[in-house]
Amino acid sequence: MSEAKGVWVFSENADLMLEMLGKGRELADMLGTDLCAIVIGNGVQEKANGLVKYGADKVYLVENGALGSFQAEAYLSVLHNLMVNYRPEVLLVGSTRNGKPLAARLAMRLDAGCVPDCNRLNIDGQRRLIGERITYGGNAVAKVTFRTKPQIATVPSRAFDKPEAKELKGQVVKLDVKVDAPRTEVVDRKPLETSSVRVEEAQIIVSCGRGLEKKEDRALLEELSQVLCGQVGCSRPLAEDRKWFSEWIGLSGHKVKPKLYIACGISGVIQHVAGIRDAKVIVAINKDEQAPIFEIADYGVVGNLYEILPALKEAIKKQLQ
Ligand SMILES: Cc1cc2nc3c(=O)[nH]c(=O)nc-3n(C[C@H](O)[C@H](O)[C@H](O)COP(=O)(O)OP(=O)(O)OC[C@H]3O[C@@H](n4cnc5c(N)ncnc54)[C@H](O)[C@@H]3O)c2cc1C
Repeated sequence: MSEAKGVWVFSENADLMLEMLGKGRELADMLGTDLCAIVIGNGVQEKANGLVKYGADKVYLVENGALGSFQAEAYLSVLHNLMVNYRPEVLLVGSTRNGKPLAARLAMRLDAGCVPDCNRLNIDGQRRLIGERITYGGNAVAKVTFRTKPQIATVPSRAFDKPEAKELKGQVVKLDVKVDAPRTEVVDRKPLETSSVRVEEAQIIVSCGRGLEKKEDRALLEELSQVLCGQVGCSRPLAEDRKWFSEWIGLSGHKVKPKLYIACGISGVIQHVAGIRDAKVIVAINKDEQAPIFEIADYGVVGNLYEILPALKEAIKKQLQ
């Protein structure tokens, strides 16, 4: 049987696909092999054409009426077919709600290894993929490699930067792949009540924790974030326990990479910090000067957020006038 060759990337999330193409290009160059993007869907030729500019040597395009929206079993059967026929040595899958189980199921079918949520990827001296992932509740980094091929890793959003678009000459290859009839059916889809801008995309985030006393006080953060053209975020207890928000930031929530992160009434335990460590500048507002958030903050304000936030908003407004 021929040797496994090529680095492949797949995600149904367009931004994540580009971020993985950037990293995939580096890995493919280290291995001296091709980088290939997989596009699955219906009416997605344009999407496939666009990926060539971001470093893909080839884009394998599989279009079929049954693939119009993500359906785990159908997408799994397509990817499995492609992997068996073309035998890539590395497959990166976006760590989305759909991508993670898809990668795990694919690894199971192929009897391959799968490392989830890699925020660093490298190649060792034996051409093996090395994935690094945060573990033990954010207290350690595990470095994991593979004993067999293909090597499957999932990659979270914003772990890697998007490459610049260039005039590159890759090739889009349209493939006719058998799609297995799914054994489950999606009966309904309802949009989640979330803010219009995804918090992972925000350049400025004003975030609150249990220091916020009442749900209505979110207005304080919303007003400041509006002045800064930012986005509001929160720690997990505000979303999971108090249900004041639908999503949170941290180890088990969104990993963010803003230019400015303002943490208000957030203690800064490791599970929260795991989601904000890539923020460029962190400002902490906390009334407890011993709060761990001050250890990682670039700027710290010891004080009551109920006094500081309105004052900060007014000061910024004045500056902007
Ligand atoms: C497996 C696991 C995964 C987890 N994942 C996450 C995660 O992804 N994200 C996450 O956030 N948490 C996560 N947690 C929870 C985490 O351990 C903490 O419980 C949580 O982050 C604490 O949230 P907090 O800082 O808002 O609350 P607290 O720790 O209660 O801190 C509140 C802070 O507000 C300050 N404060 C109070 N009043 C004021 C005021 N008026 N003005 C200024 N400051 C004030 C206090 O001094 C205190 O420092 C996880 C936990 C586990 C076990």
